[in-house]
Amino acid sequence: MTKLDAKIPGGPLEGKWEQHKNESKLVAPANRRKFSVIVVGAGLAGGGAAATLGELGYNVLNFCIQDTSRRAHSVAAQGGINAAKDYQNDGDSVWRLFYDTIKGGDYRAREANVYRLAELSANIIDQSTAQGVPFAREYGGTLANRSFGGVQVSRTFYARGQTGQQLLLGVYSALMRQVGAGTVKMFERREMLDLVIVDGKARGIITRDLVTGMLERFSADAVLLATGGYSPVFFLSTNAVNSNATAAWRAHKRGAWFSNPCFTQIHPTAIPKAGDFQSKLSLMSESLRNDGRVWVPMKVDDKRDPRQIREEERDYFLERRYPAFGNLVPRDIAARAAKVVCDEGRGVGSTPYAVNLDFSDAISRLGEDVIRDRYGNLFDMYKEITAENPYEVPMRIYPAPHYTMGGLWVDYNLQSTIPGLHVAGEANFSDHGANRLGASALMQGLADGYFVAPRTIAHYLASTELPEVSTDHDAFAEAEDSVRKGVDHLLSIKGEKTVRELHWELGRVMWDKVGMSRNGEGLKEAIGEIQGIREEFGQNLKLSGESDDFNKQLEMAGRLSDYLELGELMAKDALMREESCGGHFREEHKTEEGEALRDDENFSFVSAWEYEGEGKESVMHKEELEFENVTPTTRSYK
Ligand SMILES: Cc1cc2nc3c(=O)[nH]c(=O)nc-3n(C[C@H](O)[C@H](O)[C@H](O)COP(=O)(O)OP(=O)(O)OC[C@H]3O[C@@H](n4cnc5c(N)ncnc54)[C@H](O)[C@@H]3O)c2cc1C
Repeated sequence: MTKLDAKIPGGPLEGKWEQHKNESKLVAPANRRKFSVIVVGAGLAGGGAAATLGELGYNVLNFCIQDTSRRAHSVAAQGGINAAKDYQNDGDSVWRLFYDTIKGGDYRAREANVYRLAELSANIIDQSTAQGVPFAREYGGTLANRSFGGVQVSRTFYARGQTGQQLLLGVYSALMRQVGAGTVKMFERREMLDLVIVDGKARGIITRDLVTGMLERFSADAVLLATGGYSPVFFLSTNAVNSNATAAWRAHKRGAWFSNPCFTQIHPTAIPKAGDFQSKLSLMSESLRNDGRVWVPMKVDDKRDPRQIREEERDYFLERRYPAFGNLVPRDIAARAAKVVCDEGRGVGSTPYAVNLDFSDAISRLGEDVIRDRYGNLFDMYKEITAENPYEVPMRIYPAPHYTMGGLWVDYNLQSTIPGLHVAGEANFSDHGANRLGASALMQGLADGYFVAPRTIAHYLASTELPEVSTDHDAFAEAEDSVRKGVDHLLSIKGEKTVRELHWELGRVMWDKVGMSRNGEGLKEAIGEIQGIREEFGQNLKLSGESDDFNKQLEMAGRLSDYLELGELMAKDALMREESCGGHFREEHKTEEGEALRDDENFSFVSAWEYEGEGKESVMHKEELEFENVTPTTRSYK
């Protein structure tokens, strides 16, 4: 078994990052313009990294698939971003944020990375505030905080229900400043379809211009992927429809190992599915559980208007089962608990799969205006989607695929198993373990983008031999040729089923058998079924249009072909992991009370899958996790 070197610095946990920075090489200011860096992705992680690298003086090429970087999926984030500032004087600290995150991830993340994340959290708030991000404030002007699941302090900074959008506008203004200064060149509506490797190092990418269909080659000294998560493997998820796995997956096929692919976070509070013609599910932020109470009727099949169901006929199942954290238990716990009551037949609304999120108590205690002030835009959004007024009737919510903790394996420097290929934000596997606590993804994206990647990429550039590489190099020709063949192949199939139909079929298998809870038998079936859909995709895909034109169907087909391969790996990873932890619940491994049962002795590792080629089984490697500062214990929120 290969030993994965995570390159975790020595010394005490509290000093690792400082020491690492002191020991890392720097690039002198006058030399920075001699280096170019490709950053794929312009969300919080990619945009933050591109702006920072540009400000430092490197030549940055920044790519995204939207028409503007302001539309990266980060814009959708609602609830907030964590930081250990302890403004509330309620006992928070860097250590506590570290501890909550390690525990929340069910002890499947690296201590050193998580500690660094907690340390950097405070810098993020300072930087964003200085950029003008309008965080909510208290009467006296200090920044306000609220709580998120899995913690007992208030450390979540927010801008109403639009935190991601406001943070992204901060990143965007920093980025545009660099575009103006000429250090960052933006390439919008470009999709990275392959990674180019020269002499074993990542030296470029192949993109497709999504408007003209033209394939283009770009070379650089290093490549940073910050291309987000892959929840749309499930077809319906809370992710933006354009979120996808393609860049990470194609890099995987070029040699970047893929870690913990099965660790998917299922968010407990999405608006339930209403039919088969939806493209996505809308999220209701977890912050709503600060004031909203989750309940279902005591009786099975009680279809009365919730307002007619008396207090003693209600089961506030989160408060009952987890008195210490109540409605603010972590997402995996809340999601599974909702599934249990719905499986018992106590779900509400027209489908049996929904539970109430009720604000009536909070409204009578605080008044409607306070609730409107805290969550107004989320309530408006809910009303627009469901035509129900949540100030008057409880919201109906149900779990949905939301965030992927899996991603490309990276070491402490955010470098993948391909030298020169760095990975940031949701696209990498790091920091969240088997479950992500709320408000920690924005934190990780910005920590990676603003603070970690620029330092570690500098060290890479300063310590690596990087002869000039032109896009005429054979490796570029080979990669472009392989992309062209792939695109032509998709258009040549001329079958009967649309991308959407096949994606829907994949999504159903993924949700039913690789979703909120899984078992060995179901996972084996899922692997066979995904292979069947993949075969059908190869023979019966119906695409119209041309390759040298704007062709949305073609774009989606390319992404689906990657989901089909990744979906199978997710099922294999889930089958291999004979334990339950965090967002990964194996029905065979649970306590008498139905809680997740971890197996630290045999599964305290990060899986890292190596691609072996078309038609061959991927090989799994292990990064053993060592806990020197915290002791893995059974996660209890009771
Ligand atoms: C509805 C919703 C609400 C959320 N709320 C919160 C919250 O309150 N707090 C929190 O911490 N987290 C939240 N999250 C999670 C968080 O928003 C994401 O994890 C985070 O924004 C991801 O940032 P990123 O920079 O890694 O990726 P993204 O923002 O997804 O950016 C990806 C970028 O990569 C580009 N890209 C992708 N593929 C390619 C390609 N092949 N070629 C070129 N470019 C490509 C895209 O164009 C985009 O610019 C929420 C998520 C959702 C879905």
